[in-house]
Amino acid sequence: MDIVEIFGSNVFTTKTMRERISPEAFAEVESVIANGGELSRKTADIVAQAMKDWAVEKGATHYTHWFQPLTGVTAEKHDSFITNPDSEGKIILKFSGKELIKGEPDASSFPSGGLRATFEARGYTAWDITSPAFIKETACGPTLCIPTAFCSYTGESLDTKTPLLRSMEALSKQAVRIVRLFGNTDATKVTPSVGAEQEYFLVDQDKALLREDLIFSGRTLFGASAPKGQEMDDHYFGVIRERIGAFMKDVNVELWKLGVTAKTQHNEAAPAQHELAPIFESANVAADHNQLVMETLKRVAYHHGLRCLLHEKPFAGVNGSGKHDNWSIVTDNGVNMLDPGLSPNENIQFLLVLACILKAVDTHADLLRQSAANVGNDQRLGGCEAPPAIISVFLGTQLEDVVKQLVETGEASNLIEGGNLQTGVSTLPDFQIDATDRNRTSPFAFTGNKFEFRMVGSEQSISGPNIILNTIVAEAFCEAADRLEGTKDFEMAVHDLIKEYFTKHQRVIFNGDGYSEAWVKEAERRGLPNIASMVEAVGALTTDKAVALFEKFGIFTEAELHSRSEILYEQYAKTVNIEALTMMDMTSKQIIPAVIEYGNMLADTVCKFTTAGVTPRVPKEQLAKINNLLDKLQDAYTSLAKNESMAAAMPRGKEQAFSYREEVVPRMEKLREYADRLEMLVEKDYWPFPTYADLIFEV
Ligand code: ADP
Ligand code: MG
Repeated sequence: MDIVEIFGSNVFTTKTMRERISPEAFAEVESVIANGGELSRKTADIVAQAMKDWAVEKGATHYTHWFQPLTGVTAEKHDSFITNPDSEGKIILKFSGKELIKGEPDASSFPSGGLRATFEARGYTAWDITSPAFIKETACGPTLCIPTAFCSYTGESLDTKTPLLRSMEALSKQAVRIVRLFGNTDATKVTPSVGAEQEYFLVDQDKALLREDLIFSGRTLFGASAPKGQEMDDHYFGVIRERIGAFMKDVNVELWKLGVTAKTQHNEAAPAQHELAPIFESANVAADHNQLVMETLKRVAYHHGLRCLLHEKPFAGVNGSGKHDNWSIVTDNGVNMLDPGLSPNENIQFLLVLACILKAVDTHADLLRQSAANVGNDQRLGGCEAPPAIISVFLGTQLEDVVKQLVETGEASNLIEGGNLQTGVSTLPDFQIDATDRNRTSPFAFTGNKFEFRMVGSEQSISGPNIILNTIVAEAFCEAADRLEGTKDFEMAVHDLIKEYFTKHQRVIFNGDGYSEAWVKEAERRGLPNIASMVEAVGALTTDKAVALFEKFGIFTEAELHSRSEILYEQYAKTVNIEALTMMDMTSKQIIPAVIEYGNMLADTVCKFTTAGVTPRVPKEQLAKINNLLDKLQDAYTSLAKNESMAAAMPRGKEQAFSYREEVVPRMEKLREYADRLEMLVEKDYWPFPTYADLIFEV
């Protein structure tokens, strides 16, 4: 396999474009990519024609504007390149600049959170020239996909891309002001770079299709734990099984063709759990690529008779899946503003950037928490496997010490050094070790030259968290630049500012065990918010503080924020509704009948034993136990059904979402508890669907 040859072969790269259009047209495209603005109609036509020819050579018959509405997944509507037949019935293939740049899908069935009534159906998709077009090869045949932003007739954004692009511009503008303060006059643009590690589960497709819960909600709603879980730590980084290896190999090839830099792959902590990470790139492209990663994982799994579960918590009792969002900020002349260099204590620009980020995270912890909240992540955050629901920052021993010195004395003259690690084996080299260990329990960890936001859920678009990160850091940079620009004694002013920010916001630094009970108490003492669930997190979007922030930097209008909140409440209610109905269906149509059948068999046995003149102690006890649990299961079912219909009948919105959270979710848990206990008692052949052992140990 020739990776160099394969890589990007389905991408309309800048190189491909340069080879296929005139130098003048190419120069115009480059300038729009670098500086913004719009392509002239003439150039748009030239680019479209070249794109179409390239795609048709690769077998494409259709194109689509590929966008990311607020459903969390991508959307596409295919159009073929054909035109009206001429008088002799012959068609030609055409794709105009207008079709490339703008699309008009009917927007009425996408979530808009009240921004638009259904009769105002018009929505627009607009080409995002900063993310390259690509060809997706599916059963539909090769299709030219044009990454686009999606907004309403009145200009409100209805997607995740538009605000992400806005936030990148805001961050760039403010970050340039910061590097200017330190004499960098070359940089004209600063880009957030993102690398998203993707965790996922693979289960056998045929088995998954025997479970309604996996089909409808992407996670198991019932299931007793298998005798073995992940306690042996034998899956993490373990040998990759043949069937999974064949899958990973195909995934890589498909991603490489799409220009996605699939780099690492390994088994994760839970049985049947795996991870894929690409090399970091511009946040916008990273967000598009992460969508492609998720789509490709699912598609290739299908071809291998597998099902890829991207849900944050597909199985109770073993780890759930997250998406570590690695984030750094890099100038267009190649400086990573998060690179501490060899002596971070003397690197004033780095210390200022760090102080600003601490301030941003502390001030807007509620927004960051919200950005990682979805229905699935409610099952994961705060469990002893994923970062807690409390936002804190891990800096590591070395940097924490630098901050401490600065706060205490105003100077940081000391630097804790890494030193050497002696292996004690003469044939092994000694290592130079980092001054800082890693901390897997921190939700927001500094890892060398980037921050790693670990709360994000595996199924989420990474746009949300990055919009928040970019915006809150833009605000902190803006405030710092406002104070520092034009000061007479810059050295003094910047020193004071760093000290002030570190002192004020050091409460958000935590290097200890984020999973411990003690931290929950300590965080409370420090006044850090601990937001337990998605519905409680949504409110962060519309506080006065948030509205002022987003409006100041032109990321969201107040109307857009309210619409997004509405959508989130609705999504919560709808998701829990589906889960509850699925549980009820499985209970009444599968679990109860199976238990009755098994009970029936036991009752027969009891009678037969008795007739035969022996005392059926065990069958009788067993029968009594399951009969007792069956009663409880039925009561739990009735209670769930009642509360579920009450919640369903409420008008859409916050109150309804809270009703699902407070009245329905606990009753789902109760129902599950009895069902799982029954599963452990009922003979396996009677149980109506595959168990955890079948699903996660037999892939
Ligand atoms: P680990 O699991 O040890 O954290 P991985 O290799 O799985 O590491 O993932 C690390 C991710 O961070 C990769 O996607 C990588 O490209 C990304 N990354 C590395 N350096 C940076 C950086 N400066 N900015 C943003 N992302 C980065
Ligand atoms: Mg990793």
